Amino acid sequence: MKNHPAVLIGFGYDVHRLVKGRPLILGGVEIPHTHGLLGHSDADVLTHALCDALLGAASLGDIGTHFPDSDPAYRGISSLVLLKKTRMLLKNKKLTLGNADLTLVAQQPKIAPHIQIMRDTLASVLKSPVDAINIKATTTEGLGPAGREEGIAAYAVVTLYTSEDLQDGPSLSGKSR
Ligand code: MG
Repeated sequence: MKNHPAVLIGFGYDVHRLVKGRPLILGGVEIPHTHGLLGHSDADVLTHALCDALLGAASLGDIGTHFPDSDPAYRGISSLVLLKKTRMLLKNKKLTLGNADLTLVAQQPKIAPHIQIMRDTLASVLKSPVDAINIKATTTEGLGPAGREEGIAAYAVVTLYTSEDLQDGPSLSGKSR
């Protein structure tokens, strides 16, 4: 019997304000739109929620602890760099992504045409199968700050496995050579 749970669950949530004169970056992908998200980094709200969920599952605090917005090193940085650094933190704890289920809340623009490339991009940075990353998008029917297009919110739920579990797992048995 191992002294740790077989599966770790993490949750992440983030919101950024929509403003004129900024590119809109979601899931590491630039999406054509009249407005972009305001923030110290590229303000990629989806990737931030994902990082927070990963750090949460690993009991490693949150994105603000590891990559503070008071640090000039992170000004304008691609959030994919933060995601890669997060993956390295998990790797140091011998933790591997099981799956991620992400939800964007945005009235505009239409997200659906961009979901596949966002999945591909995030999976590539996480070195995960693309099927491990699900992205959904919803409007709020015009209600609330997202509905008024004042900002975009994102939610993320992830599972992590320990590398030991993976090695012991049936899916890798027979790979002993
Ligand atoms: Mg953020």
